Amino acid sequence: MPVPENRKCSKCGNPRVKRSGYCLVHRAEYMRLWRRTHPLTPEQRKKMNCRAYTHVLVKRGVIIKQVCMSCGDPDSYIHLPDYSDPRYVVWLCRKDLSGVNAYLIAKRKVDGAR
Ligand SMILES: [Zn+2]
Ligand SMILES: [Zn+2]
Repeated sequence: MPVPENRKCSKCGNPRVKRSGYCLVHRAEYMRLWRRTHPLTPEQRKKMNCRAYTHVLVKRGVIIKQVCMSCGDPDSYIHLPDYSDPRYVVWLCRKDLSGVNAYLIAKRKVDGAR
C-alpha cells in the first residue's frame, strides 16, 4: 500500500512518525542535531543533575518517602526547593505540588533548617 503524500517523511519518503515531519530514522537525526545546537543552560544542567541524584538517594533508601507535608496524602511526589542541595527535599501530593502550598512549605523548611 503506498504511503499517502501527507504522511511521508520530508527527507526520504518513508511513513512519518505521528506529529512529526520525519520518519523514525530522520526524527532521531533531527533530535540529535537539536540537542547539539540547543545545549542545556548551566541552570538546567544543575537542576537535572540534582534531580537525578535525589532519585538515586531515594533508591538507596537515604531519603525515605513521606506523605504529603501539607495534607498527609500518601500519594506524594518529591519537590526540590533548593537545587544546590539534592538531600533537601519536600514531599507533596500532586494537588499541593502545583499550589501555593509548595512554596510556603518549602520556604518554611528552608527558614527552619538554615
Ligand atoms: Zn526519513
Ligand atoms: Zn497534599
